[in-house]
Amino acid sequence: MRAVRLYGIGDLRFEVIPVRRELGPQDVRIRVRAAGVCGSDLHNFRTGQWMRQLPITPGHEFAGEVAEVGAGVTDFKCGDLVLGDSRVSCGRCPSCRAGRPNVCERMGYVGEVCDGAFAEMIDLPAERLLTVPHGVPLQVAALAEPLGVALRVVRRLDPAKDSPIVIAGAGPIGGLAAILLNHLGFGPLGIIERNTDRAGLVASLTGAFILGAGPAGSAGPVASAGADVVRRFAGQSGLRYAIEATGSRAMVNGLLGSLTGGGRLAMVGLFRGEPAFDANAVVERELEIRGCSVFCEEQREVLPLLPLLAAQLSRVISPGIPLERLPGEYGRLILGQSAFLKTIVEPWRPAT
Ligand SMILES: [Zn+2]
Ligand SMILES: [Zn+2]
Repeated sequence: MRAVRLYGIGDLRFEVIPVRRELGPQDVRIRVRAAGVCGSDLHNFRTGQWMRQLPITPGHEFAGEVAEVGAGVTDFKCGDLVLGDSRVSCGRCPSCRAGRPNVCERMGYVGEVCDGAFAEMIDLPAERLLTVPHGVPLQVAALAEPLGVALRVVRRLDPAKDSPIVIAGAGPIGGLAAILLNHLGFGPLGIIERNTDRAGLVASLTGAFILGAGPAGSAGPVASAGADVVRRFAGQSGLRYAIEATGSRAMVNGLLGSLTGGGRLAMVGLFRGEPAFDANAVVERELEIRGCSVFCEEQREVLPLLPLLAAQLSRVISPGIPLERLPGEYGRLILGQSAFLKTIVEPWRPAT
């Protein structure tokens, strides 16, 4: 079958590989119809942080059609439309036992500890699959995974109603969080995003104000002149809630500087190297920093929202690309050149 495989840092290749013959008794073989490229795929490609075994087929955000089921599988049958849970947690560590499998000490992901979805077929245990809600296009269903992450961010931010919220980074997670916050009636929302196309797209879908947009040089608009803009946006109540989804050190400090006493920052962006932040600001203004990692039940919980949000979500995904184009697309995405929030790969699509 056709697949895209990761061989090491910066080394992603299109290949034709054999389909594994044996399907375990609890496993399901899925014909991948749509798979999303995640920021974590790009992060791993650039840094090698989660390269557990190589080569590996990446891709953990997908939807497809059941092609074959193992002898012991009773919940799914051929032709069922399913989407995948990306997490492979151990179930035994203190975090798992405390009901927080998203911060499992031995956490692994589909596409890192086992072959993922950038291929025509993926094999996964039946327990890692969810049913696609009726009528939802599979390209949209593939967004259930990052939407679960975005819902986790919204939960961790836990904003009060009618309170201004700044979202730094309106890419896949920040942009989807904006869509969820808007749908759930929170806001007003203000976004800061270096990619002006993305900023415009998210603003048009959510009514968010664009507080800063433009090339990388202005990645810290909150940090400098933009602090005024944020202050004006937040108005008299001051800024109590912000989401950091860029992984930029300047942005973290800009946001910490903009939050009012007792404010809360939900952090989901991944950093290269160790970020330094203004610890005194946190102490002196009793700021709260909350990390956000994947999801617990949030992916399951977004499923009923998919039909309601399908029209909006279908506008944030790229036209599907064939597997052959994926290695080149990684480069474009790393440069921040996509006008969409999510690049969708359609493995069944022939190379053009
Ligand atoms: Zn992801
Ligand atoms: Zn665990």
